[in-house]
Amino acid sequence: MANNILELDSVTIRFGGLTAVDSVDMNIEEGSIRALIGPNGAGKSTIFNLVTCIYTPTSGEIRFMGQTINGLKPHIITKMGIARTFQNIRLFGEMTVLDNVKVGQHCRTRTGFLGAVLRGPRVKKEEAHITEAAMAALELMELSHKKDELAKNLPYGEQRRLEIARALATEPKLLLLDEPAAGMNPQEKQTLMKMIRKIQEMGLTIFLVEHDMKFVMSLSHRITVLDYGKKIAAGSPAEIQRDPAVIAAYLGK
Ligand code: ADP
Ligand code: MG
Repeated sequence: MANNILELDSVTIRFGGLTAVDSVDMNIEEGSIRALIGPNGAGKSTIFNLVTCIYTPTSGEIRFMGQTINGLKPHIITKMGIARTFQNIRLFGEMTVLDNVKVGQHCRTRTGFLGAVLRGPRVKKEEAHITEAAMAALELMELSHKKDELAKNLPYGEQRRLEIARALATEPKLLLLDEPAAGMNPQEKQTLMKMIRKIQEMGLTIFLVEHDMKFVMSLSHRITVLDYGKKIAAGSPAEIQRDPAVIAAYLGK
């Protein structure tokens, strides 16, 4: 039986009077592609913020590889093997493509601020590893030939792939993608889909929020549907497409 890499047990978070995520249970099988869908404001990004420990649940438990992660610091989560991209582009336009990837990797270095002073062989070895991992991530997103270009000069679709490369360079086991195809043209979406499949085949688990239903249905193994913070359905793409509650809340619009 396959393992669950991520488990949410009755996870709730309240902001004042608003219950943004309401008793959500979810198990994500290691190596799979899971989509999280639902109307705007349903609580999708909030779930990502909970899983990456930007928020702590009001109640409930989140486990990553069997270990409770409630209340841990986001940089610890990165070290444990969870990486993410954000709904809106967060790149440094005036920096090169390669440097944009490297800024995401500081969490992986064990040398800390003293590294710059020490410059010992161990530090040099880690720096070499960082550059290698950054280049490998760019390669996977087919951007290595653009490593010296400024991020702002990349076409939109490549900027979004650059953000994925930055997440991949931290060498995660679980990758969270928040609306990765948003704003892309059909061809950019096709390319992205192919790359997501490729990294999943390499063993990564993918957890994605996306509004493009064609994208979601053709890529995901399982889909979880949220509405007003509550899980209203979960199942295979075929099951979700014919679920009356999902059609009423979301797909039917
Ligand atoms: P989605 O990603 O599904 O569109 P979000 O998870 O961003 O929705 O938001 C879910 C709800 O939680 C929204 O009503 C949003 O305004 C609210 N929310 C999210 N984060 C906060 C916060 N830090 N403080 C207050 N309300 C928040
Ligand atoms: Mg969102």
